[in-house]
Amino acid sequence: MSSIILEARDIRYRYPRGMEAICGISFHIRKKEKIALVGPNGAGKSTLLTMFNGMIRPDSGIMLFDNNPVRYDTASLRMLRKRVGFVLQNPDRQIIAPTVYQDVAFGPTNLGYSENETKNAVELALRHVGLEGFNRRPPHQLSGGEKRRVAIAGVLAMDPDVLVLDEPTSGLDPSGSEDIMELLDELNHNGKTVIISTHDVELAYPWADRAILMICGKILREDIPEVAFGNPEFVRMAHLSLPTLLELHLELQSRGFAIPGKKPRTVLDMMHSIETLFDRKHNPIIPGTIMVCNVDQNDKGLLSSFLSLNHGLSVGAMGSRAKQRAEIERIRLDFTYGVIDKCILKALLGNNSLILTTESMVDRIFKRVGAYGLESGIHIAVNLLDEDKKVTQKP
Ligand code: ADP
Repeated sequence: MSSIILEARDIRYRYPRGMEAICGISFHIRKKEKIALVGPNGAGKSTLLTMFNGMIRPDSGIMLFDNNPVRYDTASLRMLRKRVGFVLQNPDRQIIAPTVYQDVAFGPTNLGYSENETKNAVELALRHVGLEGFNRRPPHQLSGGEKRRVAIAGVLAMDPDVLVLDEPTSGLDPSGSEDIMELLDELNHNGKTVIISTHDVELAYPWADRAILMICGKILREDIPEVAFGNPEFVRMAHLSLPTLLELHLELQSRGFAIPGKKPRTVLDMMHSIETLFDRKHNPIIPGTIMVCNVDQNDKGLLSSFLSLNHGLSVGAMGSRAKQRAEIERIRLDFTYGVIDKCILKALLGNNSLILTTESMVDRIFKRVGAYGLESGIHIAVNLLDEDKKVTQKP
């Protein structure tokens, strides 16, 4: 189990002339966890998040970062803020410079990076968030989702260990929200601890490793999402709604269907339970194949020739660079979120699909499909489209 990166020990905080906003909270967050703080407006989520990088100091109790109590002198806070990056709820309040480049360069310049180091840090950060080539664009001309990405890049440019995001999807449409959640997934996959606050249960439920339900400045429940959201009474107390999949699971159970296996986190989990319940073995289907194209390795020609030979294939993109590539090559995407599961679902109907992805995410696809195979006993082939312009099957 990974070590603890952030810890709170019985912290309390009252705003000047305000009510007590944090009323005795203790918890810990491990390195590389994805944490969702979930609760209604006024629950204390933003206040708690701002304690993670020392913007607010608790009146009592201790915050620890990497096992050391947070210190509030200027030099210590500067170090802490390099390691814990904070993305505000409203990107317009975070983005201050006249161009994307200048804005993302603000943090590294402040940290005393040389011009060259700053340039590299900015380019890497913009690449990570899928905004290569946006350097000279004025931020006010960008879409809501793009602005959010610029704000994330500004924090990433300092290469923090932890990313803290207050309501990262507020104001975005469903597809923009999914894009941001997928970006956070990708950053987490590349080693960052990611902590978000949200009241969007449907987004938090499949995404988080652990959900912390908050109400009135206190933690109501803290566990893996299917347990944290598993008790309708707690969910009601937190003024939230049950994730649809859990609600469906409970309704089936209450009608006497003995659903095997764990509670569903995704549609794929739910389908697996239902098919087991109805003994799908009587109607076997030969599963389709999932093709994987690593856009960091494959040139333009391969992808377009492959797609022209495989009309009607469902295509998904995972990772911001893969999505950018699809846009450049005008590839119509069927899936941009939960892509692996959606391609497994296609395969279970006997259909083939293609996933465009980046180098660091390739293994994840093989692992997820392999894990599904072990769980379900259904083998789905995953083939890598390689640079030699042929399709190869990974051993
Ligand atoms: P959430 O992020 O869950 O919506 P907040 O942390 O913003 O909750 O707020 C927690 C409590 O603190 C609320 O009662 C809110 O009214 C109060 N609060 C937040 N910011 C301030 C402030 N600047 N001054 C006084 N009270 C505040």
